[in-house]
Amino acid sequence: MALLSATSPAKAHFSALFLCHDEPQHGHALPPAPHPQCSGAGNRLRARGRWSVSAAVAPAPAGAKEEEKRKPRVLVAGGGIGGLVFALAARRKGYEVTVFERDLSAVRGEGQYRGPIQIQSNALAALEAIDMSVAEEVMRAGCVTGDRINGLVDGISGSWYCKFDTFTPAAERGLPVTRVISRMTLQQILARAVGDDAILNGSHVVDFIDDGSKVTAILEDGRRFEGDLLVGADGIWSKVRKTLFGHSEATYSGYTCYTGIADFVPPDIDTVGYRVFLGHKQYFVSSDVGAGKMQWYAFHKEEAGGTDPENGKKKRLLEIFSGWCDNVIDLINATEEEAILRRDIYDRPPTINWGKGRVTLLGDSVHAMQPNLGQGGCMAIEDGYQLAVELENAWQESVKSGTPMDIVSSLKRYEKERRLRVAIIHGLARMAAIMATTYRPYLGVGLGPLSFLTKLRIPHPGRVGGRFFIMIGMPAMLSWVLGGNRCIPKSNCHHLFLFQAHM
Ligand SMILES: Cc1cc2nc3c(=O)[nH]c(=O)nc-3n(C[C@H](O)[C@H](O)[C@H](O)COP(=O)(O)OP(=O)(O)OC[C@H]3O[C@@H](n4cnc5c(N)ncnc54)[C@H](O)[C@@H]3O)c2cc1C
Repeated sequence: MALLSATSPAKAHFSALFLCHDEPQHGHALPPAPHPQCSGAGNRLRARGRWSVSAAVAPAPAGAKEEEKRKPRVLVAGGGIGGLVFALAARRKGYEVTVFERDLSAVRGEGQYRGPIQIQSNALAALEAIDMSVAEEVMRAGCVTGDRINGLVDGISGSWYCKFDTFTPAAERGLPVTRVISRMTLQQILARAVGDDAILNGSHVVDFIDDGSKVTAILEDGRRFEGDLLVGADGIWSKVRKTLFGHSEATYSGYTCYTGIADFVPPDIDTVGYRVFLGHKQYFVSSDVGAGKMQWYAFHKEEAGGTDPENGKKKRLLEIFSGWCDNVIDLINATEEEAILRRDIYDRPPTINWGKGRVTLLGDSVHAMQPNLGQGGCMAIEDGYQLAVELENAWQESVKSGTPMDIVSSLKRYEKERRLRVAIIHGLARMAAIMATTYRPYLGVGLGPLSFLTKLRIPHPGRVGGRFFIMIGMPAMLSWVLGGNRCIPKSNCHHLFLFQAHM
């Protein structure tokens, strides 16, 4: 398959080519206007003026110096939270970025399950460091939960088991307080900020070639695009990851997850943000998402691949959670059957290497995690921030030294900076599920013939010991997780006053 753009004979320091692949028989250079194959109804956010970019890299002796000074062209596979945040960060630093998104209109990735997402202090701080006005827009659109009581309760009695203080770790560092925001709203804000001209919708990356001096992303429809580096932000089933490292199975968590959103305002809405209701081999999470709505997740330990009969989800949930406290039952009852969705939960243990050569991974493509800490998307945001920082450091270094920018090393520094933090949070998210699996509220639970003992409601000794452990470990864990990327400048942490005003 031929590449149809004229390539500069005097190769630029950064190749910065952006090519449209066409049927080989056409055999002519790119047209100045959008090619018919590259436009269409599905491409709502198609780059405008895309072809003038190719014109800009055509050989021109007078422009050769200009070319040498150009920052690298960045290709991003996937316009989910991670891809868009990184694209925003890179654009704000002056990089030319193109995001290839399979289907932006469908509120993609996890977003297809509609639910709002919790963006915690650490991720909000990273967003602020990337673009303060975008962060403020996200925060305005979100519903603050981090300043209320959040924590674990016993699913049957509804009594508090452990309360989390997510406010103090943020306040101590002057970070924004945790919010919950609709995924659609978040995506719209990010996509608008990145800009239509940088997002190529309806473009499915299926392969790439890294020849050592540039990367070519190959789309399903045969088009090819060149850049100086490629970032695979294409989610848990990442094609970029597969091309880099070969096929590997995602790990089933052991849980299927029902989610729902209901018009429901619990009586304690002013004091409680979110609650995790613990049970044996099942747990339930409810969160205020603002505008009189509650979002919930119901996790149940079972084999992957289960399905429900038509209109059978609510009925099944009421069976699974029968005998649980009113907070749970009322929420399920208040939810329309059509608003209940089900999927199995998978994760991917983060690997030591996140990329090779000029290609790296970001977000779920490299470290999809179980949703128990609400940190998967937050980690993708932190990744996006860090990657842009490392690229910029390498660029500054090359300007200072007058040497070519070392893209490959900058990608390695990015993964080195992120690896440990992400691995720990990934592990903590798994641990939270293990805790839910092993949680036994009363003596007799899980004891087969002795299960009649549960009726006596004698607290299980493991529950008492577990609580002690959580009370000691949780503050330190929250402080570290919510504290965020260590390289975010302190000047970005100015939120203490806003918290206080909010209180
Ligand atoms: C039940 C549940 C609740 C969660 N709650 C939270 C929460 O409260 N807070 C939180 O931080 N995280 C949460 N998460 C995790 C969070 O949703 C993910 O970590 C986050 O979406 C990852 O973002 P991403 O950009 O890496 O991947 P994705 O969001 O999956 O985005 C990948 C994008 O790439 C596109 N794409 C895929 N393949 C290609 C391709 N080949 N070419 C072009 N485009 C492609 C997809 O269409 C998609 O838009 C939750 C997860 C689950 C399952």
